[in-house]
Amino acid sequence: MENNKQMRTWLDDLNLDHPLVIAGPCSAETEEQVLKIAHELKNTDVNYYRAGIWKPRTRPGNFEGVGALGLKWLQKVKAETGLKTATEVANRNHVELALEHDIDLLWIGARSTVSPFIVQEIADALEGTDKIVLVKNPVNPDLALWLGAIERLSSANIKNLGVIHRGFSTYEKSKYRNNPEWQIAIELQTRFPDLPLINDPSHITGKRDMIFDVSQTALDLNFDGLMIETHFDPDNAWSDAAQQVTPKALVGIMEDLKIRKESDPEAQYNTDLNHLRAQIDVVDNQIIDLLGKRMKAADGIGALKKQKNVAVLQSKRWNEILGKMVLDGDEKGLSEEFILRLFKAIHQESINHQEAVING
Ligand code: PEP
Ligand code: MN
Repeated sequence: MENNKQMRTWLDDLNLDHPLVIAGPCSAETEEQVLKIAHELKNTDVNYYRAGIWKPRTRPGNFEGVGALGLKWLQKVKAETGLKTATEVANRNHVELALEHDIDLLWIGARSTVSPFIVQEIADALEGTDKIVLVKNPVNPDLALWLGAIERLSSANIKNLGVIHRGFSTYEKSKYRNNPEWQIAIELQTRFPDLPLINDPSHITGKRDMIFDVSQTALDLNFDGLMIETHFDPDNAWSDAAQQVTPKALVGIMEDLKIRKESDPEAQYNTDLNHLRAQIDVVDNQIIDLLGKRMKAADGIGALKKQKNVAVLQSKRWNEILGKMVLDGDEKGLSEEFILRLFKAIHQESINHQEAVING
């Protein structure tokens, strides 16, 4: 696959002509289950076979994994199918056992990335390894924790690193199990452009019928690969049943995904693209100018209210403005959600300006 990374990574060394695919069950359940799924994935685009051996569950009382026994089953997978193997590690003991059983790719789960103590313990246990190590984003939308985990692994001289975007938990109701918050993954990619970035639509959506759309969005955003939970009998899986797909469905998803190129050398395409980008730059500057003007007016309002000792927030007027903006926005093809978010941010900045004048 073409990509815009500056340095050659473990991913380039795989020389794939499609996005990286990591697939396999959420959890290893029995030897037969692990081997059956692996055989069904054998002659597909799947590059790494995943299975959770130690399962971190938010609440106790659920299936917590088969433990080290499952590593033997993964070794059998490699011997019988040639698929490389992947599992989650959450402490030094897991790392040592996984390395002993020659697991090819280890990942740090979302509940571990939140803890610098755990990440440091894993980094120390993996010091200098040439295995591939992927870091899932932390459960909560905190970019610094994610970056910190990568830095700890990097400082432990672990070279074959990558990240997995699996979405973020939220108190707000959402159609996702874990909100994608794509901008956080994109920000991480901007900070570490050479790190392979894998999307995990299974844990983002929590529902198998939404996996295709999230996978397509990820590829449109230049993600390097996908991790998709796969089981021959998803409904009866011992964990994450609603989000697993059959091997056949996985192959269908991979066939239907549109794989877009990073760029195209054709001259007319580049001329048109540059032209549109220049337009966007001009409009962005205009937006900043206009926002500056709007805040100047807010400063003026602040001064008037100060003279008359009137409160900053007048919610009736604000609700009227918002309602009108949603309607106007709709006419221009802008979603209600976007308009509300945009104008809430603008309104907050206006309030800050007025407050500064009143209290200044
Ligand atoms: C998993 O991949 O099965 C898993 C537990 O994921 P996460 O750490 O993203 O919740
Ligand atoms: Mn899972």
